[in-house]
Amino acid sequence: MAPFTTVEPAGRSTPVTAPVTTDAPAVVADPSAAAQQTSREPAELTDTVPVLMYHRVQPEAERPDSVPYPDLYLEPDLLREHVSALYGEGWRTVTARQVAEAFAAGTGVPEKSFVITVDDGYRDGYDHILPILKEFEAVATFYVVPERLGQGQAFELTHLVELAAAGNEIANHSWGHEDLAAMGQQGARDSIKKASDRIEEIVEARPVTLAYPAGSYDSEAIESATAEGIMLAFTTEYGALDASSDLLAAPRIRVRGDQSAGSVLSAVEEYTGDE
Ligand SMILES: [Zn+2]
Repeated sequence: MAPFTTVEPAGRSTPVTAPVTTDAPAVVADPSAAAQQTSREPAELTDTVPVLMYHRVQPEAERPDSVPYPDLYLEPDLLREHVSALYGEGWRTVTARQVAEAFAAGTGVPEKSFVITVDDGYRDGYDHILPILKEFEAVATFYVVPERLGQGQAFELTHLVELAAAGNEIANHSWGHEDLAAMGQQGARDSIKKASDRIEEIVEARPVTLAYPAGSYDSEAIESATAEGIMLAFTTEYGALDASSDLLAAPRIRVRGDQSAGSVLSAVEEYTGDE
């Protein structure tokens, strides 16, 4: 890996660690309080970035009686504990797009950067994840399924606009959550393109990252993604991303629905050599 120079990390925010009650409206960080805290030292750049994979974040009381994959569901309070533990140890979020663009430029991201990805485009991303992100001035990458927008428990269009305005990335999870390895190259490309077109219409930014639905991909799916301008595409294989990874078949760290904050912190730090 190439050596990285020391740079001023641009736009790194100071965490807000004050406890908040779950019933309170989203807490807006007090800029004067944040300004009084010492900003982080200029960071070394790294090309190793743990990428956490989440799906649903919804209180159990709001879930249907039986859900097909209960392990994909987290309580919002548990997500808050995860983010709090990581921010407490100096970790800060970047989006998958920021990672992709840094790697493409041959640079890295500031040390102790991690990515929160949220797959499938459910409105709990707006109802339950966005308020937690705002508490910590954190950002996430949401892999959405445009065909479902506005239906059932999926995001409304306005949710995507608001998420993007808050600095989150809205990215490609195929048009209709198709198995991209089973569609042939043209079919996969059509699905990826249609999704990117729709996302770009809504948030005015064309996706450059993608998550393969169900982690299913093959060489044709990779070629299709590349042809549609995708720079970084995630599977569901387990591991930390680094610049020597296959960026079009990139690993993530799956977070279980009952996983403790300490366990998530260990999983992140295991891949970076940090204690
Ligand atoms: Zn999915």
